[in-house]
Amino acid sequence: MPEYEAVIGLEIHVQLKTASKMFTDAPTGFGQPPNTLTNPVVIALPGTLPVLNKAAIEQAVRTGLVFGSEIPEFFSWDRKNYFYPDSPKNYQLTQKDAPVCLGGAVEIELPGPSRNQMGEHRVIHLDHAHLEEDVGKLTHGEGDSLVDYNRAGTPLLEIVTAPDLRGPEEAVALLQSIRMHLSAAGISDCDMEKGQMRCDANVSVRPVGQAHLNNRAEMKNLNSITGVRDAIAYEIRRQRRACEAGQTVVQETRRWDAATARTTSMRTKEEAHDYRYFPDPDLLPVKFPRERVEELRRALPENVFDRQRRYMEDFGLPYTLTSVICYDHELASFFEASMTVYADNPKATANYIANELQRERANATDEGVLPMEAVKLQPAHLAGLVQAIDEGRLAKQQAKEVFVEMFASGREAEAIMEERGLGADQHDDGQLEQWCRDAIVANPRAAQQVRDGNEKAVNSFIGPVMKASAGKADPRKVRDTLLRLI
Ligand code: ADP
Ligand code: MG
Repeated sequence: MPEYEAVIGLEIHVQLKTASKMFTDAPTGFGQPPNTLTNPVVIALPGTLPVLNKAAIEQAVRTGLVFGSEIPEFFSWDRKNYFYPDSPKNYQLTQKDAPVCLGGAVEIELPGPSRNQMGEHRVIHLDHAHLEEDVGKLTHGEGDSLVDYNRAGTPLLEIVTAPDLRGPEEAVALLQSIRMHLSAAGISDCDMEKGQMRCDANVSVRPVGQAHLNNRAEMKNLNSITGVRDAIAYEIRRQRRACEAGQTVVQETRRWDAATARTTSMRTKEEAHDYRYFPDPDLLPVKFPRERVEELRRALPENVFDRQRRYMEDFGLPYTLTSVICYDHELASFFEASMTVYADNPKATANYIANELQRERANATDEGVLPMEAVKLQPAHLAGLVQAIDEGRLAKQQAKEVFVEMFASGREAEAIMEERGLGADQHDDGQLEQWCRDAIVANPRAAQQVRDGNEKAVNSFIGPVMKASAGKADPRKVRDTLLRLI
């Protein structure tokens, strides 16, 4: 029996973040009353004409730039004809012959040996990405079906990969990488629960060493990470068994049923000519200016994995911290903003964000975590807290309590410390002087350096004195006293 390998290609539909729809100014949105985000164009009243949404085109171009695709100078629009009540026009506007992005590649990270260790990185090539409009949503009830056109016309980018993936874990890693990169660039939140990212999985198997591809099954509209993983794993098993039994896999479209955890045949796979594609006569091809491509390229945020490598190398952060902070662009922005205020202790800053901040966000609400826009804590306030700890004005245990209060109230560390009598000098000057003398006696070399004019050497006494005062002495006063005594 030959060894079989799986071959997988994904078609990933991503809803682009725009205020209005792909071909008209009706607003986009989620969770609104049915059929309120519509206008005559969305419901395709006779005589209406499409108008291109520049923002959607630019989001698509930006996606291509994130993944190193070529952005052709011209791209155009085609009609994909089919009859189904989710599409009032009876065709979908899409790009078949000249899509907005060609080629490119997505870096993915496979699961590591443990959660604390970086997994292997691989590159998955993209075939192309094309723009299209989303369709409406059908709800089938007892005896009737309802249609909601709120989603119809929402800009979608369909990202089509090469058949580079070899297993369900790689497919999941690809979706996670796309979500991370697109949310970091503000292109899409890719929230699968809100239908912002959906995926068709094409799966075939072949004997290892065989170059050509075998017949594939296409599973449509997988809408959760678990769905993608389980559907692909099931399909690989099914096809491998068929091959081992000497049968040929039929090229077809299959449905994934999460309840029974099986795929079942829906229909033989449709061919392009079934849709009678033709160039849309209402929309001119787009000539996208080269200067604008370069402007958009320059304005992109740093690539997520590059940022992670930089945090590990330049800041010496461990993988576990970078994987929490860099994979979530809001946390990364918080970290960077905090570092602009106090840059001396990246590790403590990252630790507070990855642990304390995340814990308080989870505690703050019954469902999920508190969104970052609702967090009152400011990056500069965290910087102030870490600095107070580093300067020995705040013991680590007290700092955690101060942090909880900062998170709840949005107040600065200093204000809370003052109110609680932390960090201020609680002792008489005689006691402080005694601690300073002890510290100087214990380190005569540093004392000599200070006498020789190196005032910075006084810093080596501040820690011991702060420790002696259990973090309660005022560091400025400690410093003055030390300098006076030396
Ligand atoms: P279609 O016209 O059905 O959309 P495409 O050739 O555009 O087909 O490919 C769609 C997706 O299917 C791509 O991601 C591609 O990599 C993948 N694919 C194509 N052939 C195979 C195959 N034999 N096995 C696995 N994936 C495949
Ligand atoms: Mg396809």
